[in-house]
Amino acid sequence: MREQLIRAAEELARSQKLVVLTGAGVSTASGIPDFRSNDGLWSQDLTREDYMSNEYFFYDPVDFWKKYKQIFRVKLLKQYEPNFVHYFINELESGSRQVSIITQNVDGLHEKAGSSRIIEYHGSLDKATCPYCQKAYSMDYVLADEIPRCEGCTTILKPNVVLFGDLITAHDEAEAVIDQADCLLVLGTSLKVTPFSFLPEYARNQGIPSILINNEPTIKDYLFDEVILGDLNRLLPPLKKELKNAATY
Ligand code: ZN
Repeated sequence: MREQLIRAAEELARSQKLVVLTGAGVSTASGIPDFRSNDGLWSQDLTREDYMSNEYFFYDPVDFWKKYKQIFRVKLLKQYEPNFVHYFINELESGSRQVSIITQNVDGLHEKAGSSRIIEYHGSLDKATCPYCQKAYSMDYVLADEIPRCEGCTTILKPNVVLFGDLITAHDEAEAVIDQADCLLVLGTSLKVTPFSFLPEYARNQGIPSILINNEPTIKDYLFDEVILGDLNRLLPPLKKELKNAATY
């Protein structure tokens, strides 16, 4: 394990344009449930996936909003705080190293931790948009009424979270960021959700060195130069230490 952390630290220390992919495992320590993984929220009730879909939103937007607010516990959103993992990623942005984050998380915690180059691949909970006139609204506005409507045209708003069945509009942007990268670090994701899970393969095809740290093996482990299995909160402190050692060479 130590050897792996040292090799990972050396790779990270060399990187000038690092891309970090993050998944639910990064936010669980902030108390945010894993919405999509097997032991997360979705699997407790199969119909959640049906409700949180583009199809259901347009079929019954009133009921959609009731379920949405419940499932994503949006009232609690402001209480969630970044954890050690978010700050670790933010601190990687040191010296001349540029760090871009591509996250599957919709909780906005990377931004709250101070990171600035973030692609929210599955959208974000903190905004909603009018599907008719495209006017954007804040979370406060969304929470003010049970069913949020556009103040201009009264159309029921659509959340900026990517729903099942929605197009992923950030994929090209994510690939463009990987094109510029010299190292890929993947944290806290089982890489089961497509097309996000295609990104490590894309990086591999560009010959970019890659590191995966996750609490369980993934079906994409073979794509990585270094696979470190274990709890992020336990592994990142020693990695941080090795990174300091590596940086002083
Ligand atoms: Zn409108």
